[in-house]
Amino acid sequence: MQDFLAPRRLLLGPGPSAVHPRVLRAMSTPLIGHLDPIFLGVMNDIQTLLRRVFATTNPFTIAVSGTGSAGMEAAIVNVIEPGDSVVVGINGVFGTRLATIIERCGGNVIRIEVPWGQVFEPDFIASALEQSGPVKAVVLVQAETSTGAWQPIEHIGTVCRQYNTLLIVDAVTSLGGMPVEVDRWGIDVCYSATQKCLSCPPGLAPLTLSDRALSVVKTRRSPCRSWYLDLSLIADYWAEQSRAYHHTAPISMTYALREALRLVEEEGLPARFSRHQLNSRALIAGLTALGFSPLPPADRRLPTLVCVTVPAHIDEAAVRAELLRRFGIEIGGGLGPLKGKVWRIGLMGESSTEANVLTLLNAIEEIGIRSGWVSTPGAGLQAAAHTYSGGR
Ligand SMILES: *Cc1c(COP(=O)(O)O)cnc(C)c1O
Repeated sequence: MQDFLAPRRLLLGPGPSAVHPRVLRAMSTPLIGHLDPIFLGVMNDIQTLLRRVFATTNPFTIAVSGTGSAGMEAAIVNVIEPGDSVVVGINGVFGTRLATIIERCGGNVIRIEVPWGQVFEPDFIASALEQSGPVKAVVLVQAETSTGAWQPIEHIGTVCRQYNTLLIVDAVTSLGGMPVEVDRWGIDVCYSATQKCLSCPPGLAPLTLSDRALSVVKTRRSPCRSWYLDLSLIADYWAEQSRAYHHTAPISMTYALREALRLVEEEGLPARFSRHQLNSRALIAGLTALGFSPLPPADRRLPTLVCVTVPAHIDEAAVRAELLRRFGIEIGGGLGPLKGKVWRIGLMGESSTEANVLTLLNAIEEIGIRSGWVSTPGAGLQAAAHTYSGGR
């Protein structure tokens, strides 16, 4: 076999996003042992930096070994015990995945549903809790990557307190790209992934638990059904006093996450959030001018993932294939009921730049001109340029 040489790609799909060269360099740092005091220092740094992006003082703030789904599974398998009732918001692929995991943990899933592309209002959650009787937790996806919908979390923590239930939030496509305020919003369990808005390769899942959630985990009636993801055991590895071996930490990934979080810190969260907002607004303006329409309503669109419906006369899969083959640009297609109907364009972390937005619009226009569905060449770029020059 020959050397593997990866092609140059512009990563504008639903993840992974582009990775900064400093993060790639950090990954080639020589290995040290996972119990080496120097490595324990790296873990401490990660905990400090993660608390800042999660906006929390939770002592239990760690990186789970595995991708975002490992974070999801860790959140559920530790909190939910057989027979527990759980309210799950289902408005896309990831709410559905959460319900499946809860069922596998023996939980009783109370589904609340809205059409894909829409989100849950606090009143809706309150009335579900009013009717359901006691529930262990409410589970919501803040950034539904399958639809581009932004679920507001602000007021839902208060509702959960009133009904004495935990709030579990999936922040996989939001953390590092838009506000995630764990303490202020009253989130008890929040998890994410490295390869979306944190712009690090996939492989770790940031996770934070409030003291309330931690005491629920520590007072389970039965041991956690997963040994690998058992947070009561993993806590002893992350706790500064014990540092007991549980499983080998992914050393190189840990180096990478530390560097990625340092980059987040250098930019500053407010600047980072406005960059994501501006670039997504410009892309939406450009795509709208070309005849695509955003799926979620105007006030519920993610700044990190743009989801647009593709007009029926455009062969969406062929255009995506051409973007990849001729321009080296990756964007995502639709999942489940949205397959063949939408594009999902990630503008996450390092991938969220003005240059990338203009490059993508230019490539789409060129394909549209050749195939005859762009009638006014330049309309998309003009609309984006208008946004960048301060227009609304
Ligand atoms: C990507 C994603 C996940 C799963 O993460 P993996 O890293 O693919 O395991 C979970 N939730 C949401 C909202 C996601 O976008």
